[in-house]
Amino acid sequence: MNAAQMPLTEPTSFSPERGAELAHSLAGLRVRIASACAAASRPPGAVTLVAVSKTYPASDIAAAHAAGQMIFGENRVQEALGKFPPLRQTCPDLRLHLIGPLQTNKVRDAVRIADVIETLDRPALADALAREADRQGRMPDLLIEVNTGSEPQKAGIQPEEADAFIAQAQSRFGAKLTGLMCIPPAGADPAPHFTALATLAARHGLTVLSMGMSADFEAAIAKGATHVRIGTAIFGSRPPLTTA
Ligand SMILES: *Cc1c(COP(=O)(O)O)cnc(C)c1O
Repeated sequence: MNAAQMPLTEPTSFSPERGAELAHSLAGLRVRIASACAAASRPPGAVTLVAVSKTYPASDIAAAHAAGQMIFGENRVQEALGKFPPLRQTCPDLRLHLIGPLQTNKVRDAVRIADVIETLDRPALADALAREADRQGRMPDLLIEVNTGSEPQKAGIQPEEADAFIAQAQSRFGAKLTGLMCIPPAGADPAPHFTALATLAARHGLTVLSMGMSADFEAAIAKGATHVRIGTAIFGSRPPLTTA
């Protein structure tokens, strides 16, 4: 790693005001998740909240953790490397899900710091993960990302290739492969995408379904989401990204 790539270690102390603000938004969100569970006749604990902290500082993660939030999602390995090692010194129970497209040259760091990698989506990445897990003697749990809308610009295995890819990953990774993840096309009704993902998971006996974000998590819970990935509804709106 050269100096330019070296992540800066971020401070983790937060103001009482930000602590109260995040405790308030998390409490409101937990109520909405519980209501969506009730509306779907699912038990309140059926859905796990992954707080998506991308672009927000480590101090916000510490504040959310102080308010009882344990599981966080980050898109970029490099950004997570700057935030999680210092946080884990004071909050050893933090769990990190990597939810962004994963390049094979980031696999070493990803296997080292992630508890869950949600975006396994191609054979070359499966190969790299298997090699790295052997080398490190550790493997995060894995979800396969499915490109349910077949969008050319989006990561995820194509729906028509998903059955074969899931079967291969199951034989290779065993119980480490726990489920599926999707991001429905923007502007479309997400419900058919959530249903398609749930059907695919059921066909392969996979129990984890990571689907639903700030704008559509209630619909995802109605269709069986076990994990919702929520950022803006907790932390506030992010500045526009300069790169995807
Ligand atoms: C940013 C992001 C989220 C959270 O989106 P919000 O609309 O802020 O809730 C969820 N999943 C993925 C893959 C993301 O990149």
